Amino acid sequence: MSVARPSVVVVGASLSGLMAARALRDHGIDDFLVIDRKRWIGVPLKCGEAVEASAFDELFGQGARYPFIKHVADTHDVVFRDFVRPLLDVPQLTFYELNRTEFERWLAEPVSDALRLSLTVRSIARCNFGFELETNQGLIQSRAVILCCGSNYELQRQLGLVSSLPRLGYACGELHATSDRHRERFVWHVMDRCEGYGWVFPKGNDGCNLGILSYRPEPLRSRLAEFKQLQAIATTPRTTFGGRFPQDGPLACTAADSLLVCGDAAGMVFAATGEGIRFALISGNLAGTVMAEAMLAGDTSRRQLSRYQDAWERRFGRVLRVGVRVKEVIMSLRRSGFLTSALRHLADRRIADFMLGKHARLTTLSYSVARCLELPRKLL
Ligand SMILES: Cc1cc2nc3c(=O)[nH]c(=O)nc-3n(C[C@H](O)[C@H](O)[C@H](O)COP(=O)(O)OP(=O)(O)OC[C@H]3O[C@@H](n4cnc5c(N)ncnc54)[C@H](O)[C@@H]3O)c2cc1C
Repeated sequence: MSVARPSVVVVGASLSGLMAARALRDHGIDDFLVIDRKRWIGVPLKCGEAVEASAFDELFGQGARYPFIKHVADTHDVVFRDFVRPLLDVPQLTFYELNRTEFERWLAEPVSDALRLSLTVRSIARCNFGFELETNQGLIQSRAVILCCGSNYELQRQLGLVSSLPRLGYACGELHATSDRHRERFVWHVMDRCEGYGWVFPKGNDGCNLGILSYRPEPLRSRLAEFKQLQAIATTPRTTFGGRFPQDGPLACTAADSLLVCGDAAGMVFAATGEGIRFALISGNLAGTVMAEAMLAGDTSRRQLSRYQDAWERRFGRVLRVGVRVKEVIMSLRRSGFLTSALRHLADRRIADFMLGKHARLTTLSYSVARCLELPRKLL
């Protein structure tokens, strides 16, 4: 049996993996493979498809001109029970609503020659050469690996990066051809009977993406049905999807000898909202760049690759940790009944910063207040 021996293997051909591959190529590394168990790029879709605009623009330039961007939203409705808090023209909360499948195909184009699909990594181990990956199509040996395999933590466990599975959140959603009520605004609906929220993200003439997210396992399909009723959406979905996301914050170690970990595989999700696209794109780009420079310098030691960990920590490490707290604050305010007051009295800008994890001090303060509010409930 022949053994493939690329210099670098990127495991996962979704956002973080494709970004890592593009950065490797941009920096002069061509001897790499990007492998994925799925049969087609961008399919199946498992996403609300909303990405924060400023992060997107920083990576790709002014996004609105790309055909896969279906809508630009800077007005939002945050809903709890009967209370609707509009957030109007909040520039820091500007989101692009993508057609993610088209976006991933566009990302994949410049590295399509390095893609190997329908290829599942069953196990991974270190060997003299670097790494040995056992796949459904034979062995692959590579000097270095960039792990972009999402929130199935089996490969991370095999490499000793995690000792147990992080807590996971769950989400499911649907694409609808029509969105008459929701053509402009993003809707974030904190649910009463669910440990999470429902979303409606409009896609202009392409309809809308709607769904529901929970911080713990619960019957999401029935919650989604309730949410659609609340939103008066009765059309038949074009597509349904579901998935999970890590919600404990980033892994402690994302850079080891000849190994980098990105995106969901590294726990890089804003736990409160499940937002992960921007972190996957940025971390993949950083990982590909740092790995390429290390390969060219002939030094892929942990010391050299730790520049990746330093870089993402500086960019958004704090935001991700704040996200874990934001989630707890939202749920605590909901349970103690103070969510409506908070939504009524806080300025638009404050709520927007809170939703993006940009206000560490406000979050810490609200976290302490929320814990105090919960005390009587816990003591009774
Ligand atoms: C329902 C849902 C809705 C979401 N909505 C939003 C949203 O609106 N906005 C937002 O910012 N974020 C959202 N997220 C989060 C966002 O989708 C993720 O953060 C993002 O996809 C992470 O990208 P990634 O490349 O790190 O991992 P993934 O997109 O999970 O990709 C991992 C890839 O690795 C492949 N893979 C895994 N294991 C193996 C293996 N053993 N061998 C070969 N290939 C393998 C998989 O097939 C997959 O293609 C949502 C998540 C869910 C579940």
